[in-house]
Amino acid sequence: MKTALVTGASRGIGRACAEKLAKDGYRVIVNYVNSSDKACAVAEATGGIAVRADVSDPSAVAEMFRGAGDIDALVCCAGISEEGLFTDLTPDDWRRMFAVNVDGVFNCCREAVPGMVRKKRGSIVIISSIWGITGASCEVAYSASKAALIGMAKALAKELGPSGVRVNCVAPGVIDTDMNAHHSAETMAALRDDTPLGVIGTPEDVAELVSFLVSDRASFITGQVISPNGGFLI
Ligand code: NAP
Repeated sequence: MKTALVTGASRGIGRACAEKLAKDGYRVIVNYVNSSDKACAVAEATGGIAVRADVSDPSAVAEMFRGAGDIDALVCCAGISEEGLFTDLTPDDWRRMFAVNVDGVFNCCREAVPGMVRKKRGSIVIISSIWGITGASCEVAYSASKAALIGMAKALAKELGPSGVRVNCVAPGVIDTDMNAHHSAETMAALRDDTPLGVIGTPEDVAELVSFLVSDRASFITGQVISPNGGFLI
């Protein structure tokens, strides 16, 4: 049985990815940092295991991977967002954003890649964001962190392709999760209106794409940035 490790799988997009990959036949490692009950519920529902590790902490990540065994698919979904004026951003805000969103992916890839290269097989999906492609006003740190992941995925895909390891980036548009729960109904309606397909995305919309990308159906696809966004950004 293949193993998939999904970071940030207690809620939202990561949770949907864990559920979909379990349906696809993977043993799923459900990573989380705070939501122990939710992660355990996802693990129970998927027949997987929940593992607490702050992805920004290299030693916690190393311990998680030591316990996980061989990983066939890594989905880096854990992330945080913050809104505010650029002029209010502090160096600590900036560092925290990069510690979780960028260092977190680095820490996980660093642990997963050697085993994949040894087996000459593996797939990594990094969850970026449309804002990493186009930039969001009042989300400069978030946009910059998500743009960094696009560069990372492309470079890693070139480096690991000859070893049979694929790396792709998924850059979702607006998805109905806790991350957007602070938006008013009016803001969500405006975002919906700006979306050609006229709907806000669901975590399952993203999970379908992730499921495809980690599978052999995507065996000729690497280094790509694919954006499920309902046409919001074309
Ligand atoms: P969410 O509902 O807020 O869930 C965030 C997940 O990340 C939770 O499972 C959380 O774990 C985990 N997490 C946060 N910090 C962590 C850390 N330091 N170590 C380990 N896990 C951590 O967010 P979401 O909307 O599903 O977003 C998932 C990913 O998609 C993020 O990378 C986000 O940037 C990206 N994205 C989201 C949207 C959107 O519209 N929602 C659009 C584009 C991209 P706990 O529950 O334990 O705190």
